[in-house]
Amino acid sequence: MLIVQKYGGTSVANIERIKAVAERVARTKKEGNDVVVVVSAMAGETDKLIGLASQVSSNPDEREMDLLLSSGERVSSALTALAIGELGLKAMSFTGRQVGIITDAAHTKARIERITADRVKRAIAEGIIPVIAGFQGITETADVTTLGRGGSDLSAVAIAAALKADLCEIYTDVDGVYTTDPNIVPDARKLDKISYEEMLEFASLGAKVLQTRSVEFAKKFEVSVVVRSSFNYNPGTLVVKEDEDMEKVVVSGVAYDKNQTKLTVMGVPDKPGIAARLFNAIANANVVVDMIVQNVSSDGKSTDISFTVPKTNSKKAMKITEEVADELGAKGVDLREDIAKVSIIGVGMRTHSGVAAKMFENLARHGINIIMISTSEIKVSCVIDAKYTELAVRVLHDAFELAEM
Ligand code: ADP
Ligand code: ASP
Ligand code: MG
Repeated sequence: MLIVQKYGGTSVANIERIKAVAERVARTKKEGNDVVVVVSAMAGETDKLIGLASQVSSNPDEREMDLLLSSGERVSSALTALAIGELGLKAMSFTGRQVGIITDAAHTKARIERITADRVKRAIAEGIIPVIAGFQGITETADVTTLGRGGSDLSAVAIAAALKADLCEIYTDVDGVYTTDPNIVPDARKLDKISYEEMLEFASLGAKVLQTRSVEFAKKFEVSVVVRSSFNYNPGTLVVKEDEDMEKVVVSGVAYDKNQTKLTVMGVPDKPGIAARLFNAIANANVVVDMIVQNVSSDGKSTDISFTVPKTNSKKAMKITEEVADELGAKGVDLREDIAKVSIIGVGMRTHSGVAAKMFENLARHGINIIMISTSEIKVSCVIDAKYTELAVRVLHDAFELAEM
């Protein structure tokens, strides 16, 4: 088999861990498989680099950030290749550029356009284990890019697709995908398998165990993904196509996201074109808007528009929103940072009623006020005060009986 193994930050956090990863890679190779390794930066390294940049610049240029951030994964890939070499196997580290991971120029959240992987294929053919620096690519014009936080997952899945690998293993610090974050709810249950659709919701609603785009990619190219721990040999969670069993479960999990900010434009005229003007301006600045809620005021002449954006983009979004609000003659703009989004997810919701009501009821019973609501076929999300996040997650996990029996 050809197996792509991705090791996250905690899995390569220090020299001892890197040696343990090398052992696991060697074991997989000795079992007769071809292995391609993708690594994240050592735990905390990316944040440290962001911190350094903020000490020299109040608004760091994104191109420069990408070159800086890509260095973390270079370090871990070379160290891991050395550690594998020490075990008597041939390994070679590669940067995103050397692999030929071509992306667009959307710095700090670039999208992969294609992967050539010639150099990597040659290495595999020669019996060498490629150890690829995750999270990075290169534009057609040779600028280094990164793929968004958690982007090594995407590197791994995309490389698995490009190489037509049999399996893509995502090694992390938990045993798999759970009904909710096991670090918040200790009796969360590990799922043996989860559909691409549900995993996509989990990821995009904040469960950082897999990066959202990596799941989109896996779904599109039907890459077999397993999420498992690099700290033990437990079996992990398979991410697969939906099957009939899965539909029987109404709610399969709870996710939360503390990385959102809410902006409200107050008193905008209620006429066609207003929302288009506002959200075009925000989209042009490469900011992704999540929830949008619009309320017509009681006099029917003006509206309030609330929406959420990632916290990292809140300054940028605020600036644009204030400019547009001014131009539109709105009464003002309000920014609220202390919010969180809690969500319940399940493909079974398609055919069940009363799920949302049960969610609202349980939040209410614990005095948790709902600020915004959004729903899709397979999820319900509520924006709440950030200080109730953990409570809300626990309450919902209990209410939908998700715990380990
Ligand atoms: P890595 O550094 O290996 O990429 P991450 O920190 O990105 O690891 O992702 C793993 C973390 O995801 C876990 O430690 C856990 O706290 C968190 N997490 C959130 N929701 C879930 C979930 N439903 N199942 C498993 N882990 C989750
Ligand atoms: N090192 C990057 C991050 O911290 C990418 C990754 O870990 O997947 O976001
Ligand atoms: Mg991650």
